[in-house]
Amino acid sequence: MSTTVGQRIRQLDATVINKIAAGEVIERPASVVKELLENSADALATRIEVDLIDGGAELIRVVDDGEGIHPDDFMLAVSSHATSKIVSDNDLFSVHTMGFRGEALASIASVSKFRLRSRQADSESAYELKVEGGKVGAVIPAGGPCGTSIEVRQLFHNTPVRRKFLKTKATEYAHATEYFTRVALARPNLHMVLRHQNKVSYELPATDNLLERLRMFYGNELTSQLIRVDGELGGMKLWGYAAHPSQNKANRKGQYLFLNGRWIQDRTVQAAISEAYRGLVMVGRQPIVFLFLEMPSDQVDVNVHPSKWEVRFQDSQQIYRLVLSTIRDTFLGMDLNGSMSGPAGKPSAPHEETPEQQQLKLELTHWAKDQLQQAESEFAGIKPQPVAPAQIPSLPQTSDSAANPFTTHSQEETAEAPSRGETSSIHSSPESPPQAYLGGEVRAMQVMDCYLLVDDPSGVMIIDQHALHERIMYEHLRPRVLEGKVESQQLLMPLTIELSADEAGVLLDHQELIGEFGYGLEEFGGNTILVNRYPVMLQKADHAQVLRDLVIELDTPGRKPSRRDLIDSLLHMMSCKAAVKAGQRLSPEEIESLLAKRDLVDDAHHCPHGRPTAMVLTQEQLDKQFGRLGA
Ligand code: ADP
Ligand code: MG
Repeated sequence: MSTTVGQRIRQLDATVINKIAAGEVIERPASVVKELLENSADALATRIEVDLIDGGAELIRVVDDGEGIHPDDFMLAVSSHATSKIVSDNDLFSVHTMGFRGEALASIASVSKFRLRSRQADSESAYELKVEGGKVGAVIPAGGPCGTSIEVRQLFHNTPVRRKFLKTKATEYAHATEYFTRVALARPNLHMVLRHQNKVSYELPATDNLLERLRMFYGNELTSQLIRVDGELGGMKLWGYAAHPSQNKANRKGQYLFLNGRWIQDRTVQAAISEAYRGLVMVGRQPIVFLFLEMPSDQVDVNVHPSKWEVRFQDSQQIYRLVLSTIRDTFLGMDLNGSMSGPAGKPSAPHEETPEQQQLKLELTHWAKDQLQQAESEFAGIKPQPVAPAQIPSLPQTSDSAANPFTTHSQEETAEAPSRGETSSIHSSPESPPQAYLGGEVRAMQVMDCYLLVDDPSGVMIIDQHALHERIMYEHLRPRVLEGKVESQQLLMPLTIELSADEAGVLLDHQELIGEFGYGLEEFGGNTILVNRYPVMLQKADHAQVLRDLVIELDTPGRKPSRRDLIDSLLHMMSCKAAVKAGQRLSPEEIESLLAKRDLVDDAHHCPHGRPTAMVLTQEQLDKQFGRLGA
């Protein structure tokens, strides 16, 4: 109040405005990569090469063979709100290019050491323009091929606070890779190259087959489990691939949605995807899809958010119906023949689908119908409240999911859970007699290699052995983590673990926290991480898998967990890993030691997956079932 009295309103100068605007669109090196890639795609390039040094913090260079910029337009290209892509506000409603705001280059140039070099096909030479700290140089002739090359060095060098907030090179690189992936999937017909520290990370030849490009990113295992989907509704088209439900993730990072060739994020579509897979993937897991929506541009407003990720559909209910019915119908095979032919203009499904994929689709169809029938004739017997997730059909196991104790474990649990016909029988098969523990006061037995039956004063207690053990492990681990006393095993020869750039980055950003759980991690270079100690309680675990699952706990988009939340979710995850699994035969001694702590379970407790850990059948309930009441 005191210092501002007498201050008059002044127009900010352009450099300041640009710096402020930069904050809107340029958040980190990856944002620069996104903007430059989109510009190259808009300029009708057929080949784009991206070079990054130190995750892009030191250098981002994007070179394309597109139509180039006329030397007279260089100055305009780097000034704000100058664009060649729209002329009037009316054009805003019919944008066909990826960019249109005309502020990206200006913003980038204002917060970096920037060099633009470009040559149009009919020009004798290339020209270049440098901008440093907002100071624009002169346009001078230079050498270079047709197309445009933009170099961005030391991003945020003149906004030190923002530069300080950049994460590790690995994390920044991972973010940049994500944007690269989005453009690469949106435009398979572009030849694209990504290099980091002068090493090629991706070399993607142009193709008109999206599956081929997907294979370059995700490998054969996932790609062979993708099912072609095609649908149409009221002038809107949807096509793409939906993964078999056995392929899933803990977050939505495996869900790619493109609207008219641009990557977007949309809640309506996400909800429709979840609905389409409901009952097919476990609660808390997310399906993997690559979907392309196409609609007339007057049915959607893309000018909602500077990053253009969010859009506003004129009729989002219709979008919901389109996405849901396209995926569901494919799964149920109601329209199998219709969708196999694919809409006109798109490469038709049989053309892109391998025989394996057609087989997969058939299997999935049968199985989905089966599931529905089962659900309808639901047995009204005694069973745990939250129903175990639907069992997935036995397809050739990918080595990835076989090596993943998390997936294996949930599948085992599903497979081991008593099926409806078996609820009345408590006997295992004759060749595997149930293990009993009859010591002291407690009479108990293991059944189905999965549950412990305990004769308890309150009634017959049925305990999920995995859930109980998990709880015990949790109680064991928690105080040790809080006091910094987790027993860990030092390794003479560190393990090397190869991860994705994304995963390595997240782990290194949380190195210290992970250390408190008994894992010693070191950066090794590339995407490799060294493990020099591990928690003793996870002696037998697959450490690469544990670390990958840690990443998922640490890095859920849209969630900024507190340290306490993080510790809690890591505690749950590690306890789950350390616990005996369903399907594991226990010795009488093991049963005894588990039951010694059974006061830790109660039927109110639910394991992190939402299933109950124990239930009690009271004498009253049993009497009622057997018609003894009122007798
Ligand atoms: P926008 O993409 O929103 O128009 P930008 O600031 O990203 O705004 O780019 C400004 C202008 O510079 C573009 O409209 C385009 O004319 C030109 N331009 C930028 N990058 C390229 C490129 N790689 N090739 C050709 N022209 C480009
Ligand atoms: Mg642009």
